[in-house]
Amino acid sequence: MDSIKDSYIQVQPLGGFDKPLTYRFKPTAYNNIRLGSLVLIPLGKRKINGIVWSFEEDIPKPEFKVHAILSVIQREPVLTPELMQLASWISQYYVCAMETCLEAMIPSSIREGMKAKSRKLISLKKTELNKSKIPSRATSQQKVISFLEKRSKSVALGELLKKTSTSATTIKTLIQKGLILETEEKVERVAYEDDFLDSADHVIAKIELTSEQKVAVSEISQDLKEKSFVTRLLSGITGSGKTEVYFEAMEMALAQGGGVLFLVPEVTLAPQTVSRLRMRFGNEKIVVWHSHLSGGERLDAWRSLIKNESRIVVGARSAVFAPISKLRLIIVDEEHEISYKQEDNPRYHARDVAIVRAKTEEALCLLGSATPSLESMNNVQKGKYDISKLTLRVDNRELPLVHLVDMRREAEKIKTLPILSQPLIEALRERCVNREQSILFLNRRGFNTTMLCTDCGHVEGCKYCSIALTYHRTDGYLKCHLCGYRKPTPRCCSKCKSFDLHKRGHGTQKIEDMVADLLPRTTRIRRIDRDVMSKKNLFRETLSDFRKGKIDVLVGTQMIAKGLDFPKVTLVGVIDADLPLRMEDFRASERAFQMLVQVSGRSGRGNRAGEVFIQTYAPYSPSIQYARKADLDGFVDEELAMRKEFNYPPYRHLIRHLFRSRSEAKVEFYITKWTSLIKKSNLREITVKGSAPAPIAKINGYYRHHLFYFTHSVRNALEKLGTLREQFPMDSEVHDVLDVDAHQIS
Ligand code: ADP
Ligand code: ZN
Ligand code: ZN
Repeated sequence: MDSIKDSYIQVQPLGGFDKPLTYRFKPTAYNNIRLGSLVLIPLGKRKINGIVWSFEEDIPKPEFKVHAILSVIQREPVLTPELMQLASWISQYYVCAMETCLEAMIPSSIREGMKAKSRKLISLKKTELNKSKIPSRATSQQKVISFLEKRSKSVALGELLKKTSTSATTIKTLIQKGLILETEEKVERVAYEDDFLDSADHVIAKIELTSEQKVAVSEISQDLKEKSFVTRLLSGITGSGKTEVYFEAMEMALAQGGGVLFLVPEVTLAPQTVSRLRMRFGNEKIVVWHSHLSGGERLDAWRSLIKNESRIVVGARSAVFAPISKLRLIIVDEEHEISYKQEDNPRYHARDVAIVRAKTEEALCLLGSATPSLESMNNVQKGKYDISKLTLRVDNRELPLVHLVDMRREAEKIKTLPILSQPLIEALRERCVNREQSILFLNRRGFNTTMLCTDCGHVEGCKYCSIALTYHRTDGYLKCHLCGYRKPTPRCCSKCKSFDLHKRGHGTQKIEDMVADLLPRTTRIRRIDRDVMSKKNLFRETLSDFRKGKIDVLVGTQMIAKGLDFPKVTLVGVIDADLPLRMEDFRASERAFQMLVQVSGRSGRGNRAGEVFIQTYAPYSPSIQYARKADLDGFVDEELAMRKEFNYPPYRHLIRHLFRSRSEAKVEFYITKWTSLIKKSNLREITVKGSAPAPIAKINGYYRHHLFYFTHSVRNALEKLGTLREQFPMDSEVHDVLDVDAHQIS
């Protein structure tokens, strides 16, 4: 009676099923199974991997037929119990299949149970060499032996083959003859190895903290000493030395024996942070965690965390799931950045997940920004978060002097719409003379924006999306920045066949060209945007060259707007400050304000004072005025008052319900039907707005309509919406998705 001895466990399948299922297993055979272990299970006709989700040792044998697990793939847990709890929370709050959540949380190499990479080492056998076993004509065998004799240590197989130009068969023969030995060694792949180099500018010695930094550090120290869970907002102006405060906090958390998670908004910012961290925490092993890691790199990172060999993780959004043991501190740098929100399932916000995680694991969550989100400011006002403020730049440096350039007046002067204003051009020239660095910021890639027919007014658009194509001069193509569609630039209008096609607007490529024409020939100009930076390492090389002073003018998109610390930059030019304001989005002014303050903050971070020129057609709009003075409190007060009046976030949660279909008629029909059902149902606590076509009404061939729900309780709203949705007969060609706490509403 074998089955009596069986135990039962619940396993969450990785794929194919959304709930944990009961399986049986033999404790004697698998006495090493733990919560979070990876096992192979039968599911229907398939065999798939699953995670041990709970033990039910005491339950009696279930009535129904229970399958046995097939094998244990990996005993080491792929998720900690706390992360399993977090997975459940995410799946509920963001309305997402558990499977998809787990996919986001666990790198595929781990889900598949990949083995750690090892390499083969070759060494001479210690025993007396019996060279007589090698025939004299076997020169390559002899070569190998003499090479190994010269080296006292073992040699990697790959290296040996290369250096002696021999084949693997030769080595095999020697092994068979018992002359040499093959062993395996586990290889650690460390990401960003070469970032050790780039830190010459930074001071290694611990710096004397400013008095404001000291206050912040002592507040954090109290948090760490006295409380299990706190969220603290570090609101510090650009260049006030927030990073130094993070480092002090880390030092304290590490001293308590805790682990630290350091989130940055953008993968590209990780190397900078890592090199600063390495200077400071030289003897700690730092794990870099992001989606560009190779399978092997991730696996190694994962293992060193699970085994508690590393205690510091740096990474972008998905690093919030890194399996750090004894987590004590989570830092969310630039917490206002919308890149923390994933625009794909699971549509989680890494900052909010970080806070939930800190709560479950009893850690301190430290949010930092020069331009905190209104959500966080509101949470401070409500007393949910504590706050520490840094109001001064280090070394009494001044914030840069900000000039608003009224582009309407500039246009009058020269009777046409200028791209670069005279004051900005003069300031650039002055920097060239003084050998100082400049940054020009424009959040639009490409050369010109659009191709406009001046006869019929037609703008060349994407075949699959409802947006204009962007002209890229480097290859002469028109490209869609949403779906990647491209076509050669047409000679004549594709609507009326007129030859009066004109390029309108300007992107980063064009600015780069214009600046080159305006400045002395010797000026070194480089561009950073997604077009250039798709090439591996180019971003890091360019930043490193800029830091070393090998570049005079850096032209770029938002990729250069945040977090970077270049002390020699004394000029920042914002080409089109109104761009974010033109978005149909209630967060438009918040975004504009944040963008301007952040870009401006790149100027004057060294010994020389900085200047900023903001080109705008709306110089009196509040976000631009407040940004000019870097008046965070002023802006927050005014903007929060407005949000409150409309009962918008952060005063209520916003859930976006997006319907998509290849059929325009169907998407319209079903969303209209759904909207009237929901309005009729008169759900308490949910205010419905819409429906309407999304601002980008078509992407990749899919028509998009949406409606919005405003609510005080996401949980209640989802419950009610869920019940209704289950009974709603939706066409199979229409897909709908909920985006809880939606940020991107385009
Ligand atoms: P923030 O992130 O607040 O914009 P950083 O942390 O990047 O600012 O700091 C700006 C610069 O000031 C960095 O080069 C940093 O090394 C330096 N710094 C920070 N704290 C101090 C201090 N107490 N004394 C001198 N320099 C400091
Ligand atoms: Zn035309
Ligand atoms: Zn497109």
